[in-house]
Amino acid sequence: MSDRDNSFFSGLSLSLRRNANRPARALMKQLRNTVIRAGMEALYFSGAHILLRPIFAGVGAIFMLHHVRPRRADAFQPNHHLEVTPDFLRAMLTHLRALDVEIISMDEAHRRLTERNFARRFACFTCDDGYRDNRDFALPVMREFGAPFTVFVASDFAEGCGKLWWIALERIIAAASAIELPIAGVMTPIDTATPQAKRTAFGRMHDWLRSLPGEQEMEAEISALCSRHGVDEAGIARELCMSWDELRGFAADPLVTIGAHTITHCNLAKQSETIASFELATSRARIEDALQRQVAHLAYPYGDRIAAGQREFALARSIGFRTAVTTRPGMLFPESADHMTALQRVSLNGNYQDARLLPVLTSGAATAVWNGFRRIDAA
Ligand SMILES: [Zn+2]
Repeated sequence: MSDRDNSFFSGLSLSLRRNANRPARALMKQLRNTVIRAGMEALYFSGAHILLRPIFAGVGAIFMLHHVRPRRADAFQPNHHLEVTPDFLRAMLTHLRALDVEIISMDEAHRRLTERNFARRFACFTCDDGYRDNRDFALPVMREFGAPFTVFVASDFAEGCGKLWWIALERIIAAASAIELPIAGVMTPIDTATPQAKRTAFGRMHDWLRSLPGEQEMEAEISALCSRHGVDEAGIARELCMSWDELRGFAADPLVTIGAHTITHCNLAKQSETIASFELATSRARIEDALQRQVAHLAYPYGDRIAAGQREFALARSIGFRTAVTTRPGMLFPESADHMTALQRVSLNGNYQDARLLPVLTSGAATAVWNGFRRIDAA
């Protein structure tokens, strides 16, 4: 999960959100999605992405995915931005092949950046969290193209004991027709009767949870809600994520690289340096021990500037990760080699699965606009 804030152009709606009162938040989120789509469409129809391509397409790109699976029919899918269909993945690979972009592993990307070997543009594919659908739906598509990819595993998820709170929240709201929340010490009723009400409630509860002082408070509130609304919180990781046994088979595929994604999927920047360091080093050790393979690559959970900054970039470097990826949007440039533990990615966001927009994504125009036309965002 990363990443409600990780779409291109989310910056465009920041000023809208800043003054938003609570009831208007959900509307603002919908508006933000519309603004993002309008921005991508504008780039597409204006042809600006073609003009920007030579400047912002860079030497390569790292694409970020989470779930890869067929579309579900449910009316209420607040985490839909975190999933793409196998067909959309196939469309992107087909598009890259037509552009003569080579799909390479993270090890090979590290080598080419280090050696400044940019003879051919390249792309890496990365999937965060270690979902089983990566094996069942992404791998068969990647095989069609002989394309390698990296899956970043949170070791607690593989252990079957981690907490995927954003999915727990979705299930709580899906199951309930009304929810009471202790907002500012007062039990406040939240309407969750209809799909529209559920969408509004998800945005509101998501913001409330993120506003709590620490991750422990957030986990306690989610656990209390799960037990009140009959959601099996502990079962979510086992249901959706690959176990160690499954990962052993998956990792044996020559196309697959396994990377680390911490132990508990915590916001590293909110932890003490000791804990952040432990999360990084121990998750790597646990994966290496379980899979008997070297782990050289890392993805920061959430990965935005609230969750990973200079301290985390330095920790990842000192612990010895060859690369570490953020969720900050951007392409790769020759100067990315100086920021090997702060690499930017391009999100394949489930809310924008439109084959017409693929050239906008690969032109670098969308991420360039988002970054105010800076190429590197590693501060
Ligand atoms: Zn994640």
